Amino acid sequence: MRQVIIIGSGPAGYTAAIYAARANLEPLVIASSVEVGGELMNTTEVENFPGFPEAIMGPDLMAKMQEQAERFGAEVLYQDVVSLDLDGDVKTVTLGNGETHQAYSVIYATGSAYRKLGVPGEERLSGRGVSWCATCDGFFFRERTIAVVGGGDSAMEEATFLTKFASKVYIIHRKDTLRASKIMQERAFANEKIEFIWNSEVADILGDEAVNGVVLRSTTGGTTRELPLDGLFVAIGNDPRTHLVHDKLELTAEGTIWVDGRTSRTSVPGVFAAGDVIDPTYRQAVTAAASGTVAALDVEHYLAARGEAALPESDVAQIDGLPDAATVGA
Ligand code: NDP
Repeated sequence: MRQVIIIGSGPAGYTAAIYAARANLEPLVIASSVEVGGELMNTTEVENFPGFPEAIMGPDLMAKMQEQAERFGAEVLYQDVVSLDLDGDVKTVTLGNGETHQAYSVIYATGSAYRKLGVPGEERLSGRGVSWCATCDGFFFRERTIAVVGGGDSAMEEATFLTKFASKVYIIHRKDTLRASKIMQERAFANEKIEFIWNSEVADILGDEAVNGVVLRSTTGGTTRELPLDGLFVAIGNDPRTHLVHDKLELTAEGTIWVDGRTSRTSVPGVFAAGDVIDPTYRQAVTAAASGTVAALDVEHYLAARGEAALPESDVAQIDGLPDAATVGA
């Protein structure tokens, strides 16, 4: 029997693991079989995570977080969760390999999944020119003409990165202004290989064996035209990954998991949530990490209250109120 199982291995999951491990809770992290490290594994340089003034590559940052969690005793399993029983005092987590693990508490930090366009050709040509990951697939588009859909930071970052390979990168955006931060916008505007196609949406993705173009529809006039392309990168945001818990935990109108105020407490006692899965607004690596911290501290408090925490008496006394810096090692 575990004290806590953490589901998810992005900044929220690993930060929760670091804190839980340092509190001697020996957390088990279910890191997924294919998406270990979460969304930052698909990112290039992370320039806004404090402590890395020269920037750090997303996968390197996640490797460091994992190393830090393991150093304090977290155990990481590269498996997917297929079902959860969250009722009662003991929670049961079933994995894709058939194993079950039990704990008195669960931190749910599964992040968010790429949003799809929902247009004809998208599923069929996925992996044949339609991609959601520039760092994974950019290499295949050397000296090709490609497009990125979206107007946020992800679209700017992906488009800028893709100019390392492609000869031409269109950014297709449904409005005439961008949602992306100023610095990312300016970087894209300054890049000679990038051309913006404003007020347009992709209505159809064309090609038999591979992408050879898209049908663009004007969002102002409704007219359509074809744009020849070798590849299409979709960067239109993410949706919280709640499919395993949507009938077990209360959700918000935005589809994120409901938590009680500024805590990580969900509608089910002993189940805590952190990171993108509870955050419809900020969704930064650093806010996810902070959210993981909150979850681990809430778990400590919960376990101490139910008398099962493997904590020394002195620490239990301290976390009876709000944890102080000495308790959490901040
Ligand atoms: P966002 O939600 O910020 O942006 C999504 C973009 O896609 C918007 O421009 C939106 O258009 C457009 N869009 C949404 N749905 C559709 C659709 N069906 N068809 C066409 N266009 C669509 O998502 P991001 O992934 O860009 O960013 C998510 C978060 O991650 C943000 O907080 C961002 O700041 C952060 N991030 C930070 C980075 C960094 O700092 N280095 C890098 C990448 C992401 P509209 O504007 O019209 O709504």
